[in-house]
Amino acid sequence: MEAEVNKLITLGLQKGVSDIHFIPGQQVYRIYFRINGQLELHQSIEVSAAQQVINYLKFKADMDVGEKRKPQSGVCHLSLPQGMIELRLSTICSFKLLESLVIRLIAQVEKDLGQLHAMFPRDVEALNQLIRRKSGLLIFSGPVGSGKTTSIYQLLRQRIQEGPLQVITMEDPVEIVESNFLQTQINEQSGICYDLLIKSALRHHPDVMVIGEIRDEESARMTIRAALTGHLMVATIHAKDAFGVLARLEELRVTREQMKQTLIGIVSQRLVPYFCPFCQGPCLSRCHWLPISHKRAAIWELLEGENLKKAMANQPISHQFHSLNHKLLKAWVEGYIDDKTYYHFEVV
Ligand SMILES: [Zn+2]
Repeated sequence: MEAEVNKLITLGLQKGVSDIHFIPGQQVYRIYFRINGQLELHQSIEVSAAQQVINYLKFKADMDVGEKRKPQSGVCHLSLPQGMIELRLSTICSFKLLESLVIRLIAQVEKDLGQLHAMFPRDVEALNQLIRRKSGLLIFSGPVGSGKTTSIYQLLRQRIQEGPLQVITMEDPVEIVESNFLQTQINEQSGICYDLLIKSALRHHPDVMVIGEIRDEESARMTIRAALTGHLMVATIHAKDAFGVLARLEELRVTREQMKQTLIGIVSQRLVPYFCPFCQGPCLSRCHWLPISHKRAAIWELLEGENLKKAMANQPISHQFHSLNHKLLKAWVEGYIDDKTYYHFEVV
């Protein structure tokens, strides 16, 4: 069983899969690979064979193998030739008592991610200027898998090439290994949470701190405090667009005054698939028309400078602000994406 599972995970890693789904059907289980955000059928296997794999992985992750009805989650590690791979498992049961399993693959190996491909390259210049600031708070928002961390790493890597820079990251979990940064990882079971890590990191006087996610009042408070003491803080937060970030910060009890004193920019990011004439839609992983790195492009909505000040003061902002929807519309009109992609990503 171990050999079979290792083979499946190895294949997934080679194909750039982010997660593997075992979904029960009428007679068989279907195994899907999520590649570049799209689910692709990998193969169908017998119910009993799938159940063996699920039980094996549940056992490895210290989950309750006998318990099928309750949703469960767990973590296990595989040592593969590519390095140590973390698997985050979650199961949920159908009314027919068949479990489905999602395995998220977290390859903690040094990746040469190259450049995240920008749909509108001029946006990158603006981002580069923000990441060069000495202090303040720069926030990235966007759904899971929209490449926020990749963007942040890419921008900081460029800056580090121009001179020494101490970067401390705090993440849950570390997904991109970067030897030039001091990377730390949240471990709530051991009491290692964001506020503790930020507190300790401040004693190292870093130039830049990357906060994996502002997710509660504590992490928000510590992030603001660090930004006020003259550090450049780069953080992500859950919100649908730049204005949503302001509302979310308010929800986490950050005052308007604190925002005015710290916020230097809000970036809302999406990774959207290019239209492929062969696939007649987003380019599938097996299609060679678009190389893997160019199947999707990043779109950024950027709220900064005067517009950010106005937004924080609840004043109307100028026409120079280009929303995500505006950029998506532009991509659609120019033929980079199709109508389905436009409606899928449109912020409503
Ligand atoms: Zn294609």
